[in-house]
Amino acid sequence: REPLVRVTDLRIQLGHPAVDLVRGVSLTVPRGGTVAVVGESGSGKSLTALSLIGLLPPGVTVRGGEIRFQNRSLTHLSEREWESVRGAEIAMIFQDPLSSLNPAMRVGTQIAEMFRRRAGLSRRDALDRAVHAMAEVGIPDPGQRATAYPHEFSGGMRQRVMIAMALALRPKLLIADEPTTALDVTVQAQIMRLLTERKRTDGLTMILISHDLGVVARTADRVAVMYAGSVVESGPCRDVLATPAHPYTQGLLRAVPDRRRPRGALEAIPGQPPDPRALPTGCAFHPRCPIAQSICRTVPPQPVAVTSTRTSACHFATQVFASERVEGGERP
Ligand code: SF4
Ligand code: MG
Repeated sequence: REPLVRVTDLRIQLGHPAVDLVRGVSLTVPRGGTVAVVGESGSGKSLTALSLIGLLPPGVTVRGGEIRFQNRSLTHLSEREWESVRGAEIAMIFQDPLSSLNPAMRVGTQIAEMFRRRAGLSRRDALDRAVHAMAEVGIPDPGQRATAYPHEFSGGMRQRVMIAMALALRPKLLIADEPTTALDVTVQAQIMRLLTERKRTDGLTMILISHDLGVVARTADRVAVMYAGSVVESGPCRDVLATPAHPYTQGLLRAVPDRRRPRGALEAIPGQPPDPRALPTGCAFHPRCPIAQSICRTVPPQPVAVTSTRTSACHFATQVFASERVEGGERP
């Protein structure tokens, strides 16, 4: 069956002279699945996500490749066309709900606005739907809470409000960009449980942008690991986390204290991600790679299939994968 989303060789650039921020990303998201996009900040994961909902920042544009959604190309939509897709077909939630909510408007009214504008409901019907939507995301006493302002909600409850708004028009795809990064661990787990539950009840497809391998391991079916604007490794989540076939993925996992229960802490890889204005030659990861050889400094590696479902863009992918399989018996 045709996947819900198919991104092919996506290129995203900034300004003049053009700087490449996303360099040929391909991504397939099956209907009902959850695909995680993982990487350090600046890897291009958020820009890739924003391009799927037509919200790239000013001056940043799609310069090549294609984005297909339900067999329709989204690559060259006008702003007007995007407005009909956003919310109704594809919705997005972000790390910081406070910045997306109007501080001066009651929460119930903000959700109701969506139903009034987009579904043409009357004021009264829209408010009823808003209260119902708040109940669906587990906000206690929603009739009462609908009259409160955003600052009167906890961070976790505000994220529930954002989820209620994102899912109000029953979109098919939800893009969640670091949805739990600002929350404490207990609330993180509650929000991820809510998303998983809504995925099941609404038949939702999800793209999860995260730097937290723990969240990814518990939530995603497939994972794409991004570095310097490219996907360096992709495959079924379990397999990639158990036997990574790229030195960068290995580094991310080594930064995790216990590989059976991975958690955050990507900064433990020595060095910094490169400046997109001055990318290293050859493999962009070579200055940080513990096994780099001279070919890595001159020849950019292409993705190779290490199994029928997995790719790795490394000159030594096969060797890295083989060594992981030898030592990796008891990992997740
Ligand atoms: Fe490391 Fe070379 Fe592989 Fe790049 S291509 S990840 S530098 S071994
Ligand atoms: Mg980001």
